[in-house]
Amino acid sequence: MGERRNLALIDTLTPDPHLPVQEGPPEAHMSRRRLRACHECDWLVRLPPLHRGQSADCPRCGHTLSTRHYRPAQRSLALAIAALLALIMAISLPFVSFQISGIGNRIVLTQTATSLIGMHQPLVAIGVVLTTIVLPMVYLLSVIWLQIGLLRRTLLPASRDIARALSHLHPWMMADVFIIGALVSLIKIAGMAEVSLGLAFWAFCCFALLLLLTTQSLDADWMWFSLVGEPAAPEGVVTGARASPQGLTGCPTCGLVNRLDADGNGRCRRCGERLHARLPYSLQRTWALLAAATLLYLPANLYPIMITTSLGHTEPSTIIGGVITLWQHGSYPIAAVIFIASILVPVSKLIAMAWLCLRVPRSDDLQGVSRTRLYRITEFVGRWSMVDVFVVAILVALIRAGNLMSIAPGPAALAFGAVVVLTMLSAMAFDPRLIWDPPLPRSGHSDTGHGDDMPPSSSDHKEVAHDL
Ligand SMILES: [Zn+2]
Ligand SMILES: [Zn+2]
Repeated sequence: MGERRNLALIDTLTPDPHLPVQEGPPEAHMSRRRLRACHECDWLVRLPPLHRGQSADCPRCGHTLSTRHYRPAQRSLALAIAALLALIMAISLPFVSFQISGIGNRIVLTQTATSLIGMHQPLVAIGVVLTTIVLPMVYLLSVIWLQIGLLRRTLLPASRDIARALSHLHPWMMADVFIIGALVSLIKIAGMAEVSLGLAFWAFCCFALLLLLTTQSLDADWMWFSLVGEPAAPEGVVTGARASPQGLTGCPTCGLVNRLDADGNGRCRRCGERLHARLPYSLQRTWALLAAATLLYLPANLYPIMITTSLGHTEPSTIIGGVITLWQHGSYPIAAVIFIASILVPVSKLIAMAWLCLRVPRSDDLQGVSRTRLYRITEFVGRWSMVDVFVVAILVALIRAGNLMSIAPGPAALAFGAVVVLTMLSAMAFDPRLIWDPPLPRSGHSDTGHGDDMPPSSSDHKEVAHDL
């Protein structure tokens, strides 16, 4: 019966929200093995039947294609509700308080943003409040909305669009990074003031952990199958080979294998996501974003990130200056955290992305695995650079001890925040499947990487390679 419904869905892009959802794992409904094209190396595989706690990895690059949890809908719903409650506690109770020479201050979480607005840094304030509160809240509400629909067996309105949006929200939630930022700022001022953690601090830690568990609990494969079923795979697919020479691509959001039009574009039949054989102008966009990030990295380091006024004495400090001061005062772990997050990670990320882009036209399968691993690490660590921006936001809000002491954000805070966002965007613009494409034929300008990013497959796409 499940099979019959799947067939009925092949022709329709918009699922009927009143259709009952598919219960149980996809394997319970389908006898045939489902096709997947690895999103990182473009390899076509058939998914094996998965049991609870199992996951299927790409045989070529090791990318996880699908993970099966026990009762994923109930699990995600429970975690998302718990995370949302913890977040509500975290924003309504006092976050931290401190006392210096009898003058005390106590802040709630949202003051980290409002103080920045007061200091004429609205963009940094928006960045902080979006990444730590607003986007996680939208994400959790979306998960709750979707899972309630799945558990009621009648989808709530806009379920498919919400499910598609979830995968795009994911990298921009930085609650875990904010906790590191909070710890760093507290240790920074612990020497000069008496700091006490409010209930909201612990609530926020719970929220960050629950948010992480919620994102990990989402089994996209099961969720999309429950939402829309699985349309039949295109005809004549050869597995154990690359997808693009066969005119196919795997949907990055729901995983379904789709046939592309002659230009290498299309839309996913299941989730409606835009599809490309390779992300359009991937190398050019990555290079442009890298160049912008490199340019902004100069003001981020030359201008002060924080201006401390203490007893009428004003002292600006740059990122590297702050690291040196911390080191001289013996705060070695904090100096190391700031050094790694603000200097080592962004610089290595810029170098790694540039190297990956340069290597694309000279691809060879042998190093594909290690280069894909480098790309994954680069994509994963990028957001941790936000630590220093969060440190500034927390210190600015916290240290308001009248004339005794105050801290204002410097121009580098915005520049550095922009560097982090731009390097994250550059990693997203880079298409890892390019790593695995056969090398371009050597000709005058072929190794500049400035071409259309259609895969130049060795035999059957000669005309594409010619256009480069
Ligand atoms: Zn792969
Ligand atoms: Zn899709």
